Amino acid sequence: MKLQIPALAWHLVGVGAWQRSFYPHGRGIPVRVEAGRGGLRFSFRTSAEEALLRDVVLATFRNGAQVGAMALSGHPALRALRRHHKGMLLLAGSPFETLVLAILAQGRPAATVRKVFAPLAAACGGLTPQRLSALPLPRLTELVRPLGEVKASRLHATAAILTRRGATAFDRLIASSNSSALSYLLSLPGVGIHTAAIVMTHINDVSDLVPVDQHLMRVAHRLGLTEHDGRLTKPGSRQVAADLLAYGPELARVHPLLQEVANDTCTASTPDCRRCFLAPSCRYAMDTAGSRV
Ligand code: SF4
Repeated sequence: MKLQIPALAWHLVGVGAWQRSFYPHGRGIPVRVEAGRGGLRFSFRTSAEEALLRDVVLATFRNGAQVGAMALSGHPALRALRRHHKGMLLLAGSPFETLVLAILAQGRPAATVRKVFAPLAAACGGLTPQRLSALPLPRLTELVRPLGEVKASRLHATAAILTRRGATAFDRLIASSNSSALSYLLSLPGVGIHTAAIVMTHINDVSDLVPVDQHLMRVAHRLGLTEHDGRLTKPGSRQVAADLLAYGPELARVHPLLQEVANDTCTASTPDCRRCFLAPSCRYAMDTAGSRV
């Protein structure tokens, strides 16, 4: 669960074991999840909030829907992606927390986002617009500084706007029709189309939006899933999203898996095709195989 936006709230705490805190009533309760025989094992210590916490955790893990069961068969690279990640769960997140994580992650490494997120959530007693806007801006700036101070003012302004709209307004807005939810997201400080698309794909399971950036463009082009001129323009992004969605709506949900390839082996300068599990089904790897011998 390395690069999925909701997964940035989790820390690796051992081989195959991850942990984060949930704040059902403002008090942090650490929840640990690890892969065991027969599935995932969750552990947490609480009695009063047990049912509430169990619902939140199950919703986060989408009741166990795995990549191996997804309709990814229109291209050899998609089949390879499905095989490679067959046991992986695509996580969901609460609307506001996912928005905060998506803003924090803009152009920043996942490891730094993880380091910032846990103390930020703890300082707020769980991320809600009300609790984040109540945090004094200097304190928020200090917490967010490793990711750039400008993010603090954007988050504070966003939280204040949402607070003025009412306690559950954001959750209701996001759950409304896709076009009004998207327009609303785009009206918030620091939220562009890429961030809005990330939030929509993780929260609303939208099947007609793909968050396209230069990394996704690069991998998709090298694999042969799209044709484009390599420039991150609006028409170029739209073309890449349309090419990907032509393989089916699941492409909207699996974009983090392609992002992970961009991060691991398919870097901009020199793709490390010898180490990449997609090489047997990749157009670029096949075209350049002779020159790499
Ligand atoms: S095989 Fe090479 S070019 Fe293709 S996705 Fe992997 S790293 Fe990128």
